[in-house]
Amino acid sequence: MNPIGRQKVLKQLNRKRILNLLREANELSVAELAEKANLSKPTIMKVMNYYIEKGLVIISGKGSSTEEGGKKPNIYKFNKNGGYSVGMAITASKLKSIITNLQGDILLNIEQSLKANEELDSVINKILDSFNLLIEKANIDIKKVIGVGVGIYGLTDYDHGIVFYSPHYSSWGKNIPIRNMLKKRLPKNIDMIVDNLPRFQVFAEKTFGAAKQAKSVVSIFAGYGLGSGILINDDIVRGHHKILGEVGHMIINPYEELKCLCGAKGCFEVMVSVDRLKKILYSNKDSFKDSILYNNLTEEAIKDLKPEEIFNAYKLKDKLAIFAMQDIINWFAIGLSNIILIYDPQMIILHGIYTKAGDNFLKEIRNKVEAISLASIKKETKILFSELGDKAGVLGAAGYVINKFFA
Ligand SMILES: [Zn+2]
Repeated sequence: MNPIGRQKVLKQLNRKRILNLLREANELSVAELAEKANLSKPTIMKVMNYYIEKGLVIISGKGSSTEEGGKKPNIYKFNKNGGYSVGMAITASKLKSIITNLQGDILLNIEQSLKANEELDSVINKILDSFNLLIEKANIDIKKVIGVGVGIYGLTDYDHGIVFYSPHYSSWGKNIPIRNMLKKRLPKNIDMIVDNLPRFQVFAEKTFGAAKQAKSVVSIFAGYGLGSGILINDDIVRGHHKILGEVGHMIINPYEELKCLCGAKGCFEVMVSVDRLKKILYSNKDSFKDSILYNNLTEEAIKDLKPEEIFNAYKLKDKLAIFAMQDIINWFAIGLSNIILIYDPQMIILHGIYTKAGDNFLKEIRNKVEAISLASIKKETKILFSELGDKAGVLGAAGYVINKFFA
């Protein structure tokens, strides 16, 4: 790069650094900003004027102390409504969408249903419909939308915006360039990112959830399928082939009969799946004939048995429910212990249906992990339920777009 080009880049970096200082503090005077940035007041004022023009900074008032010449200095505030971000999640049956301001406050959320294995063109159209609906209903100038983040369950190459394969949408085939397909149909100024949904979930925990203070976090989405997002030193890690974090397919019990979608037997995903939980209930029901679940365990009725009903029986200390849940807890503990050894996170945050299984379930998992983990680490890794619930994925997607915008 020539010296003039380099100077330009340095100027931009400096501007961004100052803006981020203000964004972190929310509100600062010229003097405070100058001190934090280690720059002169005139430089700060020049940069602030640049961002006021862009709508990202506002003057929120005047300071009390007077400068030389008697003028009161400006107090600057980050304009959280100076732009908007859209987050979307493609799950097995729904397209969830939100629009947030630059602070991640959700202004509006909408949902569209998706058919099982719905065709690619149709899902793409629904994404664009949702986008337009959000803009219209939230009454937002489309020029102020900085980007769209789309998360999906499946192997995804973030760098190239390609979904290698999604288990819920086998009709799409392989290596789908979703980012480009969408980018073509959106205004040029709108950034577009695509990633595996659990990666956005872990990012949401870091930015808005239980992991704000943590630098290394693993989030696990389990119940139907099992995905994970891995954050190390504040960064989402994806690996050389972009499949890092596919811990759902660690084989933890090679003697298991139930087959995983990936073709192998005894994957972590299968061992803790709701399907397997139901299988255990079904095959042991005759030893627990007084179970409150007993009448729901015929071959027909079990299909409609909801996980919440099983958890409810477990909370009521139903012996069959305890027996089956204990089995799931054991395999959770084995899977999580392996994850602790591989990634050494400060915390593991659980997402998905098991977050409804109650505090005792979580306590039992912690105890079991403690019992089987290395003595020196067992007390250090926190295991928690997510408090962000269903919105973790969309919130993380919108948040990641914001993060990229200010990086
Ligand atoms: Zn598998």
